[in-house]
Amino acid sequence: MPPPAVRLENVSKVFAGDRQQDTPALEDIDLMVPFQSFVSLIGPSGCGKSTLLRLIGDLVPPSAGTVEVKGKSARQARLDREYGMVFQDATLYEWRTVGRNIQLPLEVMGMDRGQQREIVQEVLATVDLTAFEHHYPWQLSGGMQQRVSIARALAYQPDLLLMDEPFGALDEMTRERLNLELLQLYTETGITVLFVTHSIMEAVFLSTHVVVMSPRPGRITEIVPIDLPYPRTAATRESVEFFRLTTQVREALHAGHR
Ligand code: ADP
Repeated sequence: MPPPAVRLENVSKVFAGDRQQDTPALEDIDLMVPFQSFVSLIGPSGCGKSTLLRLIGDLVPPSAGTVEVKGKSARQARLDREYGMVFQDATLYEWRTVGRNIQLPLEVMGMDRGQQREIVQEVLATVDLTAFEHHYPWQLSGGMQQRVSIARALAYQPDLLLMDEPFGALDEMTRERLNLELLQLYTETGITVLFVTHSIMEAVFLSTHVVVMSPRPGRITEIVPIDLPYPRTAATRESVEFFRLTTQVREALHAGHR
């Protein structure tokens, strides 16, 4: 059987602090993210969602346990550019145009210039920003900037996206629109997504599975399968089944908090 997109086994993370002030951020995490699934991590602040994503992205090492991405160590997967990452802030270079921001990682990889330009055009079209290639980030709204950072992550043509609250800083309307765009990308490309969010509605609307976490130390308390059919639309959010699933996730979150 081929390895899953992401596999964590018995993973713990303790951040060493001053004197005896160690923070146990994650404890006994077992998680498997199958290919072509859309898995959301949800839980109150401090339950270790970001830390979990950062372990997978090899930005912090685990204290114990195994982290594998497509059957490789987290480090090897990072070196092999096995995924794209998107953070809450767009983190674009202000002095580079939109197109050249997206192009930067391809330049660093030493890719042929013609091919670089082709990919930039392709991913700009995917996030519907073709007309803004020559604009600077400060000329765009927050939602557009976040779409640029998604395009930049897609430039590697990854089949796995790690997203840490990518829409957390946006207004509700923009967030709902980008949710629909992300769903379209997901259903059209068959990409795998691991997505961190605070929002129950967002998690249920997007995901095939919602992983509910509780804090101190961060643990997985429940995995809720979301058996709503794709494609999902604005009408999905108004269905009885959607309401039932958001209630189920909310109750799991409260149960983990007791
Ligand atoms: P979440 O993303 O769910 O809000 P985090 O993963 O950011 O949670 O944090 C989990 C716990 O680990 C928190 O108690 C946080 O204070 C602690 N933590 C996170 N990063 C660090 C760090 N670099 N050094 C020390 N403690 C950290």
